[in-house]
Amino acid sequence: MTAGYSGTSGERRPVPRHLLSVADLGQEGIQEVMALADSFAEVSERSIPRVPALRGKTVMSLFYEDSTRTRLSFEAAAKRLSADTLTFTVSASSVSKGECLRDTAETISAMGVDAVVIRHASAGAPWQVASWVDACVINAGDGWHEHPTQALLDCYTIRSRMGSLHGLRIAIVGDVKHSRVARSDVLAFTMLGAEVTLVAPPTLLPPNLSGWPVRVSSDLDAVLGNCGVVYMLRMQAERQTEALLPSLREYTARFGLTRARADLLADDALVMHPGPMNRGVEIAADVAELPCSVITRQVANGVAVRMAVLFLLLGASPRG
Ligand code: ASP
Repeated sequence: MTAGYSGTSGERRPVPRHLLSVADLGQEGIQEVMALADSFAEVSERSIPRVPALRGKTVMSLFYEDSTRTRLSFEAAAKRLSADTLTFTVSASSVSKGECLRDTAETISAMGVDAVVIRHASAGAPWQVASWVDACVINAGDGWHEHPTQALLDCYTIRSRMGSLHGLRIAIVGDVKHSRVARSDVLAFTMLGAEVTLVAPPTLLPPNLSGWPVRVSSDLDAVLGNCGVVYMLRMQAERQTEALLPSLREYTARFGLTRARADLLADDALVMHPGPMNRGVEIAADVAELPCSVITRQVANGVAVRMAVLFLLLGASPRG
Protein backbone atom coordinates (compact mmCIF):
# COMPACT_ATOMS: atom_id res chain seq x y z
CA MET A 1 0.00 0.00 0.00
CA THR A 2 1.24 3.51 -0.77
CA ALA A 3 1.91 5.66 2.26
CA GLY A 4 -0.54 8.50 2.41
CA TYR A 5 -3.31 10.28 4.22
CA SER A 6 -6.73 8.72 4.32
CA GLY A 7 -9.13 11.51 3.50
CA THR A 8 -12.82 11.62 4.28
CA SER A 9 -13.46 10.51 0.71
CA GLY A 10 -11.54 7.32 1.47
CA GLU A 11 -8.95 8.21 -1.19
CA ARG A 12 -5.34 8.17 -0.11
CA ARG A 13 -3.30 11.26 -0.87
CA PRO A 14 0.39 10.32 -1.17
CA VAL A 15 2.89 11.72 1.31
CA PRO A 16 4.71 14.48 -0.59
CA ARG A 17 8.31 13.82 -1.55
CA HIS A 18 9.40 17.29 -0.40
CA LEU A 19 8.03 19.94 1.95
CA LEU A 20 8.40 23.15 -0.04
CA SER A 21 5.07 24.81 0.72
CA VAL A 22 2.32 24.24 3.27
CA ALA A 23 0.18 23.47 0.21
CA ASP A 24 2.20 20.25 -0.32
CA LEU A 25 0.56 18.84 2.80
CA GLY A 26 -2.95 20.17 2.51
CA GLN A 27 -5.33 20.03 5.45
CA GLU A 28 -4.96 16.27 5.97
CA GLY A 29 -1.19 16.40 5.85
CA ILE A 30 -1.09 19.18 8.44
CA GLN A 31 -3.32 17.09 10.72
CA GLU A 32 -1.06 14.10 10.20
CA VAL A 33 2.07 16.10 11.09
CA MET A 34 0.35 17.37 14.26
CA ALA A 35 -0.71 13.86 15.26
CA LEU A 36 2.86 12.59 14.79
CA ALA A 37 4.20 15.60 16.73
CA ASP A 38 2.00 14.58 19.67
CA SER A 39 3.91 11.32 19.95
CA PHE A 40 7.31 12.93 19.39
CA ALA A 41 6.65 15.60 22.06
CA GLU A 42 6.71 12.76 24.58
CA VAL A 43 10.14 11.63 23.32
CA SER A 44 11.60 15.07 24.05
CA GLU A 45 10.52 14.73 27.70
CA ARG A 46 12.41 11.46 28.28
CA SER A 47 15.70 11.45 30.20
CA ILE A 48 17.33 10.13 27.01
CA PRO A 49 15.33 11.94 24.30
CA ARG A 50 16.11 9.65 21.40
CA VAL A 51 14.33 7.02 19.31
CA PRO A 52 15.91 4.93 16.53
CA ALA A 53 13.30 5.87 13.88
CA LEU A 54 15.74 7.41 11.37
CA ARG A 55 18.89 5.47 12.21
CA GLY A 56 21.08 5.26 9.09
CA LYS A 57 19.56 8.40 7.49
CA THR A 58 21.53 11.60 6.96
CA VAL A 59 19.99 15.06 7.23
CA MET A 60 21.94 18.05 5.96
CA SER A 61 21.21 21.67 6.87
CA LEU A 62 22.09 24.07 4.09
CA PHE A 63 21.53 27.61 5.37
CA TYR A 64 22.37 30.53 3.08
CA GLU A 65 20.65 32.93 5.52
CA ASP A 66 21.11 33.33 9.26
CA SER A 67 19.03 31.26 11.60
CA THR A 68 18.96 30.41 15.28
CA ARG A 69 15.73 28.57 16.06
CA THR A 70 15.05 26.81 12.77
CA ARG A 71 18.51 25.35 12.24
CA LEU A 72 19.01 24.25 15.85
CA SER A 73 15.54 22.82 15.99
CA PHE A 74 15.96 20.76 12.79
CA GLU A 75 19.30 19.48 14.04
CA ALA A 76 17.84 18.57 17.45
CA ALA A 77 14.91 16.88 15.69
CA ALA A 78 17.19 14.82 13.44
CA LYS A 79 19.39 13.78 16.38
CA ARG A 80 16.40 12.77 18.51
CA LEU A 81 15.38 10.47 15.65
CA SER A 82 18.96 9.05 15.56
CA ALA A 83 19.70 10.42 12.08
CA ASP A 84 23.22 11.63 11.27
CA THR A 85 23.43 15.38 10.75
CA LEU A 86 25.68 17.45 8.52
CA THR A 87 25.79 21.23 8.75
CA PHE A 88 26.79 23.28 5.76
CA THR A 89 28.12 26.69 6.74
CA VAL A 90 28.01 28.92 3.69
CA SER A 91 30.78 31.29 4.84
CA ALA A 92 33.16 28.34 5.38
CA SER A 93 32.34 26.57 2.09
CA SER A 94 33.20 26.86 -1.60
CA VAL A 95 30.21 29.21 -1.97
CA SER A 96 32.61 31.93 -0.81
CA LYS A 97 34.79 30.92 -3.82
CA GLY A 98 31.82 31.47 -6.12
CA GLU A 99 30.32 27.97 -6.31
CA CYS A 100 26.75 28.16 -7.57
CA LEU A 101 23.70 26.65 -5.89
CA ARG A 102 23.41 23.87 -8.47
CA ASP A 103 27.01 22.69 -8.03
CA THR A 104 26.65 22.79 -4.26
CA ALA A 105 23.39 20.82 -4.48
CA GLU A 106 24.96 18.22 -6.75
CA THR A 107 27.96 17.85 -4.45
CA ILE A 108 25.60 17.22 -1.54
CA SER A 109 23.60 14.75 -3.59
CA ALA A 110 26.75 12.83 -4.51
CA MET A 111 27.39 12.31 -0.79
CA GLY A 112 24.19 10.31 -0.40
CA VAL A 113 22.27 12.66 1.86
CA ASP A 114 18.64 11.63 2.55
CA ALA A 115 17.21 15.05 3.40
CA VAL A 116 18.32 18.61 2.73
CA VAL A 117 16.91 21.38 4.93
CA ILE A 118 17.49 24.59 3.00
CA ARG A 119 17.12 28.29 3.78
CA HIS A 120 17.89 30.74 1.01
CA ALA A 121 17.36 34.44 0.36
CA SER A 122 15.77 33.75 -3.04
CA ALA A 123 12.14 32.72 -3.29
CA GLY A 124 11.94 29.41 -5.14
CA ALA A 125 15.49 28.19 -4.38
CA PRO A 126 14.23 25.06 -2.54
CA TRP A 127 12.15 24.09 -5.61
CA GLN A 128 15.25 24.33 -7.78
CA VAL A 129 17.30 22.23 -5.38
CA ALA A 130 14.51 19.64 -5.30
CA SER A 131 14.78 19.31 -9.07
CA TRP A 132 18.55 18.65 -8.86
CA VAL A 133 18.93 16.22 -5.94
CA ASP A 134 17.59 12.78 -5.05
CA ALA A 135 17.13 13.74 -1.40
CA CYS A 136 13.91 15.02 0.20
CA VAL A 137 14.06 18.81 0.34
CA ILE A 138 12.55 20.80 3.18
CA ASN A 139 12.07 24.53 2.81
CA ALA A 140 13.34 26.25 5.96
CA GLY A 141 12.53 29.71 4.53
CA ASP A 142 12.93 31.08 1.01
CA GLY A 143 13.13 34.85 0.76
CA TRP A 144 9.77 36.49 1.46
CA HIS A 145 7.95 33.46 0.16
CA GLU A 146 7.31 30.55 2.55
CA HIS A 147 8.39 28.97 5.83
CA PRO A 148 6.22 25.88 6.05
CA THR A 149 7.62 24.30 9.23
CA GLN A 150 7.09 27.58 11.11
CA ALA A 151 3.43 27.44 10.08
CA LEU A 152 3.18 23.81 11.18
CA LEU A 153 4.60 24.54 14.62
CA ASP A 154 2.31 27.55 14.90
CA CYS A 155 -0.75 25.41 14.10
CA TYR A 156 0.45 22.79 16.58
CA THR A 157 0.95 25.40 19.32
CA ILE A 158 -2.50 26.88 18.78
CA ARG A 159 -4.14 23.45 18.66
CA SER A 160 -2.36 22.39 21.88
CA ARG A 161 -3.78 25.41 23.73
CA MET A 162 -7.15 25.91 22.00
CA GLY A 163 -8.06 22.36 20.93
CA SER A 164 -8.68 23.39 17.31
CA LEU A 165 -8.22 26.24 14.86
CA HIS A 166 -11.68 25.83 13.38
CA GLY A 167 -13.62 29.10 13.60
CA LEU A 168 -10.80 30.79 15.54
CA ARG A 169 -10.10 34.46 14.77
CA ILE A 170 -6.38 35.07 14.26
CA ALA A 171 -4.84 38.51 13.76
CA ILE A 172 -1.45 38.58 12.01
CA VAL A 173 0.11 41.95 12.74
CA GLY A 174 3.01 43.89 11.26
CA ASP A 175 5.41 43.51 8.37
CA VAL A 176 3.35 41.08 6.27
CA LYS A 177 4.93 42.27 3.05
CA HIS A 178 8.36 40.82 3.81
CA SER A 179 7.20 37.87 5.88
CA ARG A 180 7.46 34.29 4.64
CA VAL A 181 5.95 33.30 8.00
CA ALA A 182 2.81 35.29 7.24
CA ARG A 183 2.41 33.64 3.82
CA SER A 184 2.73 30.11 5.20
CA ASP A 185 0.62 30.88 8.28
CA VAL A 186 -2.24 32.32 6.23
CA LEU A 187 -2.29 29.15 4.12
CA ALA A 188 -2.11 26.78 7.07
CA PHE A 189 -4.45 28.63 9.43
CA THR A 190 -7.17 29.02 6.83
CA MET A 191 -6.82 25.39 5.68
CA LEU A 192 -7.63 24.44 9.28
CA GLY A 193 -10.70 26.69 9.31
CA ALA A 194 -9.42 29.82 11.08
CA GLU A 195 -10.46 33.35 10.06
CA VAL A 196 -7.38 35.50 9.50
CA THR A 197 -7.18 39.30 9.66
CA LEU A 198 -3.98 41.03 8.57
CA VAL A 199 -3.30 44.21 10.54
CA ALA A 200 -0.64 46.49 9.07
CA PRO A 201 -0.01 49.88 7.54
CA PRO A 202 -0.68 49.73 3.76
CA THR A 203 3.05 50.04 3.00
CA LEU A 204 3.74 46.80 4.90
CA LEU A 205 1.10 44.77 3.07
CA PRO A 206 1.79 42.90 -0.19
CA PRO A 207 0.77 45.12 -3.12
CA ASN A 208 -1.73 42.55 -4.35
CA LEU A 209 -3.80 40.59 -1.87
CA SER A 210 -6.20 39.07 -4.38
CA GLY A 211 -6.50 35.39 -3.69
CA TRP A 212 -5.49 35.78 -0.04
CA PRO A 213 -8.36 34.39 2.08
CA VAL A 214 -8.04 37.18 4.66
CA ARG A 215 -9.56 40.38 5.96
CA VAL A 216 -7.41 43.46 6.29
CA SER A 217 -7.46 46.17 8.94
CA SER A 218 -5.26 49.03 10.02
CA ASP A 219 -6.93 49.39 13.44
CA LEU A 220 -5.15 47.07 15.84
CA ASP A 221 -7.13 48.22 18.89
CA ALA A 222 -10.41 47.31 17.19
CA VAL A 223 -9.18 43.84 16.18
CA LEU A 224 -7.59 42.85 19.49
CA GLY A 225 -10.74 42.48 21.58
CA ASN A 226 -12.18 40.24 18.93
CA CYS A 227 -9.46 37.68 18.27
CA GLY A 228 -8.37 34.43 19.92
CA VAL A 229 -4.76 34.70 18.75
CA VAL A 230 -2.62 37.75 18.00
CA TYR A 231 0.45 36.83 15.95
CA MET A 232 3.07 39.59 15.94
CA LEU A 233 5.56 39.68 13.05
CA ARG A 234 9.09 40.96 13.27
CA MET A 235 9.82 44.28 11.60
CA GLN A 236 12.17 42.96 8.89
CA ALA A 237 14.45 45.95 8.46
CA GLU A 238 17.00 43.86 6.53
CA ARG A 239 14.47 43.30 3.73
CA GLN A 240 13.27 46.89 3.48
CA THR A 241 15.08 48.66 0.69
CA GLU A 242 13.03 51.87 0.88
CA ALA A 243 11.54 53.94 3.66
CA LEU A 244 8.17 52.30 4.26
CA LEU A 245 7.38 53.98 7.58
CA PRO A 246 7.60 57.54 8.84
CA SER A 247 9.45 56.25 11.94
CA LEU A 248 9.73 53.15 14.08
CA ARG A 249 8.36 55.07 17.04
CA GLU A 250 5.22 55.92 15.10
CA TYR A 251 4.90 52.30 13.98
CA THR A 252 5.12 51.07 17.57
CA ALA A 253 2.55 53.62 18.67
CA ARG A 254 0.01 52.31 16.14
CA PHE A 255 0.92 48.66 15.62
CA GLY A 256 3.07 47.59 18.57
CA LEU A 257 1.64 45.16 21.12
CA THR A 258 2.06 47.34 24.19
CA ARG A 259 1.02 46.30 27.68
CA ALA A 260 -2.07 48.52 27.42
CA ARG A 261 -3.07 46.82 24.16
CA ALA A 262 -2.48 43.35 25.59
CA ASP A 263 -5.12 44.21 28.22
CA LEU A 264 -7.68 44.46 25.39
CA LEU A 265 -7.24 40.74 24.64
CA ALA A 266 -9.78 38.17 25.83
CA ASP A 267 -8.70 36.21 28.94
CA ASP A 268 -7.94 33.05 26.98
CA ALA A 269 -6.31 34.73 23.94
CA LEU A 270 -2.76 33.82 22.93
CA VAL A 271 0.16 36.05 21.92
CA MET A 272 2.58 34.55 19.37
CA HIS A 273 5.76 35.63 17.57
CA PRO A 274 8.05 33.57 15.31
CA GLY A 275 11.25 35.11 16.72
CA PRO A 276 13.62 36.80 16.73
CA MET A 277 11.70 39.53 18.56
CA ASN A 278 12.47 43.22 18.34
CA ARG A 279 11.43 43.93 21.92
CA GLY A 280 10.13 47.45 22.20
CA VAL A 281 9.24 47.65 18.48
CA GLU A 282 6.51 45.17 17.50
CA ILE A 283 6.11 43.77 21.02
CA ALA A 284 6.78 45.27 24.44
CA ALA A 285 9.34 43.38 26.52
CA ASP A 286 6.89 42.65 29.35
CA VAL A 287 4.13 41.43 26.99
CA ALA A 288 6.41 38.65 25.75
CA GLU A 289 6.59 37.40 29.36
CA LEU A 290 2.84 37.44 30.12
CA PRO A 291 1.06 34.10 30.76
CA CYS A 292 -0.88 34.57 27.49
CA SER A 293 2.42 34.56 25.53
CA VAL A 294 3.27 31.16 24.03
CA ILE A 295 6.43 32.35 22.28
CA THR A 296 8.81 29.97 24.06
CA ARG A 297 6.23 27.18 23.65
CA GLN A 298 6.43 27.77 19.88
CA VAL A 299 10.18 27.15 20.02
CA ALA A 300 9.81 23.99 22.12
CA ASN A 301 7.06 22.66 19.85
CA GLY A 302 9.28 23.31 16.84
CA VAL A 303 11.44 20.30 17.69
CA ALA A 304 8.54 17.82 17.92
CA VAL A 305 6.96 19.21 14.75
CA ARG A 306 10.23 18.97 12.80
CA MET A 307 10.71 15.41 14.07
CA ALA A 308 7.27 14.68 12.65
CA VAL A 309 8.15 16.26 9.29
CA LEU A 310 11.45 14.38 8.97
CA PHE A 311 9.81 11.12 9.97
CA LEU A 312 6.95 11.59 7.52
CA LEU A 313 9.14 12.52 4.55
CA LEU A 314 11.92 10.05 5.11
CA GLY A 315 9.42 7.26 4.84
CA ALA A 316 10.25 5.47 8.06
CA SER A 317 6.59 5.21 8.87
CA PRO A 318 5.21 1.70 9.38
CA ARG A 319 2.48 2.76 6.95
CA GLY A 320 5.06 2.73 4.16
N1 ASP B 1 12.53 33.47 11.92
C1 ASP B 1 11.50 33.78 10.98
C2 ASP B 1 12.01 33.68 9.55
O1 ASP B 1 13.09 33.18 9.34
C3 ASP B 1 10.85 35.09 11.24
C4 ASP B 1 11.72 36.29 11.12
O2 ASP B 1 12.91 36.21 10.84
O3 ASP B 1 11.15 37.37 11.30
O4 ASP B 1 11.32 34.06 8.65
